[in-house]
Amino acid sequence: DELSMNKLSRPCRMMLLVNPQSGKGQALTLYNNHIQRMLSEAGIQHTLVITERQNHARELVREADLSQWDALVIMSGDGLLFEVINGLLERPDWEEAIQIPLGILPGGSGNALAASIHHYSGAPQVSSEELLVSCGFLMCKGLVSPMDLVCIHLSSCPRVFSFLSLAWGFVADVDIESEKYRHVGSARFTVCTLVRLASLRVYKGKLAYLPATDLPKHEEGLRNKKTLHCNNQPPTSVPGRPSTVSPRVNTFHNSCHSNNSLKVRKVESTPSRSTNISLTGPSDSLLPPLDQLLPSDWVVVQEEDFVLVLAMYQSHLGEDMMAAPGSTLDEGVIHLFYVRAGISRAALLKMFLAMEKGTHLANNCQHLVHAKVRAFRLEPYTPKGIITVDGEVVEYGPVQAEVHRGLARIITG
Ligand code: ADP
Ligand code: MG
Repeated sequence: DELSMNKLSRPCRMMLLVNPQSGKGQALTLYNNHIQRMLSEAGIQHTLVITERQNHARELVREADLSQWDALVIMSGDGLLFEVINGLLERPDWEEAIQIPLGILPGGSGNALAASIHHYSGAPQVSSEELLVSCGFLMCKGLVSPMDLVCIHLSSCPRVFSFLSLAWGFVADVDIESEKYRHVGSARFTVCTLVRLASLRVYKGKLAYLPATDLPKHEEGLRNKKTLHCNNQPPTSVPGRPSTVSPRVNTFHNSCHSNNSLKVRKVESTPSRSTNISLTGPSDSLLPPLDQLLPSDWVVVQEEDFVLVLAMYQSHLGEDMMAAPGSTLDEGVIHLFYVRAGISRAALLKMFLAMEKGTHLANNCQHLVHAKVRAFRLEPYTPKGIITVDGEVVEYGPVQAEVHRGLARIITG
C-alpha cells in the first residue's frame, strides 16, 4: 500500500520548529548537541524555526506555502505538534495540507507521541536524551506512516483535532498541576501523581461510547474522505459572507476552568475575523450534535462516579507511561479507560506503577475498565474540573470525540 508507508525523498526540505521554552527550556541546546549534525549527515536540509510564543506555530503552518517543504518536524513536547496539526486542518486546502509528513523529536516535558513512535519501532523504552537521540535516528530513516487523529467537540469552541489523548479527573489534574514542576522534566508527572493520590477525588459524570467493531480498512478510508461540513455545529453561514473564511478563532478557553489554585499557561487570542466555527477538516459521521441524544447503538456506562476517564489513541501517555499498550498508530480505535470510584489509594498507585511497563491491564484491577471505541461522549456533572486534550487544558464541560483513521502522516523510522 503505497500511501500507508513510504519514505521521505532526498534531498529533503524539512521545517524544524523548535520551542525554546519546552521542557526544562533546553530544546535549542539539545538541538545543537544532538540533532543538527545527525540530520545534516543524513542529507536532511532543515530550516530551523524557533517559536516565539504560544500559537506561533499554528499561525505559521496555517499560512505557509507547503510546496516549499517535504516535512514539518517539531522539536518540543506534544503541545507544539497539537498546534501544527490544528493549523494544518484550519487551512482551506486542509485535505492536502494534512498529508504533509510530520515528525516529532522529544524536546519537551510531555513527549508521549515520541515515546509511542519509539515503542512502535520495536526499540526498548528509554527516556530523556537517550529517547531524543533514538528518535533522531528514526527521523533520519524517514519512513512515513498514517496516523489517526481524533476530532473533539466542546460546547462553545470550534472542533479540535487530537493525536494523543483526552483526560478528565485524576490524569488531567496531574497533567496540569505538574506544570509547576516543569524544571524536573518528565519526572513532574511522577511527583504530581503521588501528591494527587494523597487527595484523591471523585468526579461525577455520564460516559457513553460507540464500541469499535471490525470495519474493513477501505470502508474507514471512505468515511474519512467525505468532505461534508461538520454536522454537529451551530449554523455558520452569515449572509453575505463566503463560508470558506479561514478560521481565526482560538480554541483553548482557559477561563472556563475555574480552579484558581492551578497555574495554566495564558492563552493568547488571535484577532478573530469570524466568530464562526471551523468549516475545514473532515466531517464527523458518528457524532450527533453535543446537546442531542445519542443513537441507540451507543453504550451508556452505568457508573457515574469516576476517579478518571482517559481516552488514548497512542501507546504512551508519557516517556515512561505505557497507558494503552495495545494502541497502534493507525488502527482507527480510541482506547477508552475509566477508573470507577471506590478504588483504594494502594490499588491506584499500583495501577500507575504498572503503567510504566504497560502491565496495568493484566493486574485484574476491578475498578479499571478498558473499551475499544470509535467515538465517545463525556458529560461531567461535577461543576469544577479539568479536561485536557493532548496534555493541554480545554473548555470544561460536555465533550465528545470521534476517531478519523489515518488522517495525518508521521515519520516513524
Ligand atoms: P512541554 O512538553 O514542555 O509542555 P510543549 O510542546 O507541550 O512542551 O509546549 C508547551 C506550550 O508552549 C505549547 O502550548 C506551545 O504552544 C507553547 N509555546 C511554543 N513556543 C513558545 C514560546 N516561544 N514561548 C512560550 N510558549 C511557547
Ligand atoms: Mg505539553
